[in-house]
Amino acid sequence: MQVDYIVVGQGLSGSWVSWFLMQQKKSFLVIDKNESQTASKNSAGIMNPMTGKRYAKVPLIDTVFPFALNAYQEVATFFNQQFIYPTSIIDVFSSKENEDLFLKRKAEEPTYLSVEEDTNFQNQFKIEHAVGKINNSYRVDVHLFLKTIQGYLKSQHQFLEEAFEYDQIEILEGQIRYKNIVAKHLIFCDGTSVTNNPFWNKLPFANTKGEVLLVEIKNLSADFIYKNKHLMVPLKENLFWVGASNSWQYETEKPTEEFYFETKKWLDDFLKIPYTIIEHKASIRPTAANRNPVSTWHAVYKNIGILNGMGTKGSLHAPYYAAQLVTQII
Ligand SMILES: Cc1cc2nc3c(=O)[nH]c(=O)nc-3n(C[C@H](O)[C@H](O)[C@H](O)COP(=O)(O)OP(=O)(O)OC[C@H]3O[C@@H](n4cnc5c(N)ncnc54)[C@H](O)[C@@H]3O)c2cc1C
Repeated sequence: MQVDYIVVGQGLSGSWVSWFLMQQKKSFLVIDKNESQTASKNSAGIMNPMTGKRYAKVPLIDTVFPFALNAYQEVATFFNQQFIYPTSIIDVFSSKENEDLFLKRKAEEPTYLSVEEDTNFQNQFKIEHAVGKINNSYRVDVHLFLKTIQGYLKSQHQFLEEAFEYDQIEILEGQIRYKNIVAKHLIFCDGTSVTNNPFWNKLPFANTKGEVLLVEIKNLSADFIYKNKHLMVPLKENLFWVGASNSWQYETEKPTEEFYFETKKWLDDFLKIPYTIIEHKASIRPTAANRNPVSTWHAVYKNIGILNGMGTKGSLHAPYYAAQLVTQII
């Protein structure tokens, strides 16, 4: 089999690389082992303009945000599906310092931050301080996006469900052989497996673990994302994603009792309405040490590329950086 590209990994990174290769009418094959607990599969899909505890504006916001919105819209049109939902984040401040900081940043960024006047939230949450609102946010249905891309690739015989074996790569003159496949280029979108990747394992990565609960909550509007100590993100009617932790140091990649009981206590304290915990999951975010996305071609093996290091912002960053990689002349 002869293709222009082999793509390893079909999380958000590999899916977006695939989409832009399709746009360029390149022939390609995607190889993914279809693990169940990947960063992309456990993501909440939030794209928000103001990020972190200090409400910092997302770097390159005027470039990456419109690019991502347009890209998701183009994929949605192609597949006749809806992948992104405009939303606001209702920010129930957890402390007076949090409230003060928000109000200071609101004065500087009035487009993105406002004070929420709706007092109905008093019925659902125990509110001790004011309530803010982060506007111009979006939620990506990552699960549907990944499933749709994979379904399409399978229908085109462009998807191989197996573990890619790094030691099976042969570098030929201007080409790469992997088992019975010969490709002009090889792009790794292999997430945290980058540490086992002989071409890219020298890159400094500092992956972070994220644990999350899936919680059934009736009588809570799915029109918003809610923020306090944790985020509550609607996945579908009555089902909310609650989390996530963000730990640089962890002893296990599996869900822990510590997160479960700490988050359950927070739910007990914060919610005035009943809830039921349905599932507890954990996965590792592929995060570069400097927290920037990695989108480049190898200095020695010039036809071997990488898209990785999406950290906490894969939904927002993967479209832009995938397009950059695929359109770069190598
Ligand atoms: C709990 C949690 C919540 C998050 N919430 C958000 C959010 O709200 N918004 C946001 O933008 N981002 C969020 N993120 C971050 C986001 O999910 C990641 O940045 C993004 O998913 C990374 O995508 P990726 O494709 O680079 O990696 P991954 O999703 O890890 O995908 C890598 C793929 O490569 C495959 N693979 C790896 N090695 C091999 C191999 N040897 N052979 C074959 N296949 C292989 C894996 O099966 C996998 O499918 C969250 C992450 C976590 C963990």
